[in-house]
Amino acid sequence: MAYETERRVAIEAVIKACQLCRTVRANLVTDQTMAKKDKSPVTVADFGAQAVVSTELMRFFPNDPLVGEEDSSDLRTERGAVLKDKVVQNVIVVSGGLSERQILAAIDHGTYEGGPTGRHWTLDPIDGTKGFLRGDQYAVALALIEDGKPVLGVLGCPNMPLDAKNPDGTKGCLFIAVKGESATMRPIDNADEKTIATTEVTDPVEASFCESVESAHSSHSDAARIAEILGVTAEPYRIDSQCKYAAVARGDASIYLRLPTKAGYQEKIWDHAAGWTVINQAGGQVTDVRGVPLDFSSGRTLRNNLGVVATNGKLHEKVITAVRQVLELS
Ligand code: AMP
Ligand code: MG
Repeated sequence: MAYETERRVAIEAVIKACQLCRTVRANLVTDQTMAKKDKSPVTVADFGAQAVVSTELMRFFPNDPLVGEEDSSDLRTERGAVLKDKVVQNVIVVSGGLSERQILAAIDHGTYEGGPTGRHWTLDPIDGTKGFLRGDQYAVALALIEDGKPVLGVLGCPNMPLDAKNPDGTKGCLFIAVKGESATMRPIDNADEKTIATTEVTDPVEASFCESVESAHSSHSDAARIAEILGVTAEPYRIDSQCKYAAVARGDASIYLRLPTKAGYQEKIWDHAAGWTVINQAGGQVTDVRGVPLDFSSGRTLRNNLGVVATNGKLHEKVITAVRQVLELS
């Protein structure tokens, strides 16, 4: 098995981060969120999960840099003092006896710029913070990128039902993919891995698609027009975070549309690298809205891409044709 140690460490790290997120979510009170400069809600769990994963990576792969979503600057201000204490308390529970200085340093290990050569990790400690705050879907997303291409992805989805047909059943899924091997899913709480695969749907009429809950992150109106052209009649499956990639990877839906809402927005590599790997290894395909492959080699963002379209593979061409028509891409 390729990347055996990396796979094992990444799984352990993501499980620990999921434990922290679950605990924080269960005890969420108002002083655990503060507005980041961009006004998105950020919680003790975002910082805590980044500290936990980063600590594991630094322990096993001290030479590997990390592109992480968070940095500790807000925690180092007077306003962030209460939040910082909570981050430290929660991280110690899952990562053991670390000092405040070590925890802040672990968070700031994630400031790497990324790029086309060598290997680095990328982490979204809580993808879908808004879903996390609502008590809906969110994901801890970790990927290893080598020479600009993701080669390993682990997605921890603590609120995702193990069986989509049984939404009230056991929750907490881990999705794992390594380049060249089948994608798998297991419960967060035990190591029983099963191979997953995308749907076999070839006629878009039988397809369903997922999109963001937040219409600011993906245009719902353009998606509705694309669905109409394709003949998709199923209601959109709206879930937060890279759980959308996971849903397509295991066949809950056949299409994931992420359609630009704001000129100039650049997708972040941590929002896609783990999901990209899981879908590709499950038999699916991911490109941008023009049909161009995602380029993870150009830094912290997907600056050479516009939006994202992921499918079961078989539907990809048809979906891209409809997307190009609606977005008037020549
Ligand atoms: P989702 O849960 O799929 O809606 O995605 C959540 C992610 O959307 C966050 O982690 C942000 O990085 C990202 N995001 C923020 N603003 C935008 C935007 N204008 N377009 C696309 N994604 C965005
Ligand atoms: Mg995110």
